[in-house]
Amino acid sequence: MWPYYPDLLDRPVPRYTSYPTAAEFDDSIGLSDQTAAIDMIGVETPISLYVHIPYCQEICWYCGCNTGAANRGDRVATYLDALEEEIHLVARHLGGRGRISRIAFGGGSPNAIPALAFVRLLDRIVTEFHAASAEIAIELDPRSLDNDWYDVLAKTRVTRASLGVQTFAPHIQQAIGRIQPLAMIEAALARLRAAHVSSINFDLMYGLPHQHLADLDDTLDHAIRLAPDRIALFGYAHLPSVISRQRHIDEQSLPDSHRRFEQAARGYRRLTAAGYVPIGFDHFALPGDSLALAAAEHKLHRNFQGFTDDPCEVMLGLGASAISQFPDLIVQNEKMAGRYRMLVGAHQLAGRRGVRRSTEDQWRGRIIEQLLCSGSAKIEDELMHRAGPALRPFGDHGLVRCSPGQMAITPTGLPYARAIAACFDAYRGPSKGTFSHAI
Ligand code: SF4
Repeated sequence: MWPYYPDLLDRPVPRYTSYPTAAEFDDSIGLSDQTAAIDMIGVETPISLYVHIPYCQEICWYCGCNTGAANRGDRVATYLDALEEEIHLVARHLGGRGRISRIAFGGGSPNAIPALAFVRLLDRIVTEFHAASAEIAIELDPRSLDNDWYDVLAKTRVTRASLGVQTFAPHIQQAIGRIQPLAMIEAALARLRAAHVSSINFDLMYGLPHQHLADLDDTLDHAIRLAPDRIALFGYAHLPSVISRQRHIDEQSLPDSHRRFEQAARGYRRLTAAGYVPIGFDHFALPGDSLALAAAEHKLHRNFQGFTDDPCEVMLGLGASAISQFPDLIVQNEKMAGRYRMLVGAHQLAGRRGVRRSTEDQWRGRIIEQLLCSGSAKIEDELMHRAGPALRPFGDHGLVRCSPGQMAITPTGLPYARAIAACFDAYRGPSKGTFSHAI
């Protein structure tokens, strides 16, 4: 179905959840830029909130998230106190301006904190930001969902949840340090549906240690039978020099590039044949889900949470390492939870790194977003000309089609979308090796 050209996938490329990417952040951006950007927010500006909980009950070996073990209750409690203080500080800067349309809790695992602490946090957000009608989404670890959490999810109007599943194969779960039997996922899904969580996502992975096509098929069989509203099928990014916990994973047991490609292609074929609408090449949604509807209406976007139907241009990140995005600025909070607590405890906002988005960054970012979200983009002749040498190999293989002022990724070019988008990235020289495989 998809032709395999290894030389076109050789170069590690970003996932482009922002442009410029996090690799371009530096400490020339900080508190004063963050404050000035918040001060510019208008009364009616729609805002998305992202709340980061950097703790998990158990740490999985493959994970690249900023998270640590939630085994010390006092550490989690002081972090939550700091988060409440940051909520208060940001709300005070806003002074009633802005309209919160969405609140997303991510991590880590938001359900690593006690369910009642979540209620208190949500109550604080809704009170401080006047966000009573905001849509609420949450990432959940099925291993630490207890009765209290199901009760709270039912009572707090959470409408979207993403479950970390990754694989149903027990031997692969063993190899990645994440044991969760099929029955646990089935029970979580049934109880979330009973709690009126209307859109449920499964995160699945390919490219895992000891993973063969038959393992992936088996996982896809279960996923298709359980029919979550959305499925994300990510390629495992093995970067043990950057993410030390990945050193637990046996490098020799990882599928090579060709087998990764086959697995991505198998996932795409199986899920689309089962009725899922493809969103890019690695996300899938049932036809009635808001993500599929946004794709059909060309209203899909890409932000730090991946593909989204959220049109907000302002995202405020709360918590250690959380990222705030404005049209002309990206700011990341202090990454280390301890230092974050100290800053916020001193009544300061926590923005410490970031990048300013020039006019050129903004239009290049729009082109990259359009290519990844809808597979085509309007591109000025001058820029097309400059990207020409990098694009040529993709054109020679029929993976892109160019016409005056326009470029489209062909159906066979889909798995090369990130590599094609990288041709419009002014910051990417020869590979520095800090990004993941292009597939
Ligand atoms: S539960 Fe999720 S966030 Fe936590 S370590 Fe595992 S993969 Fe990472």
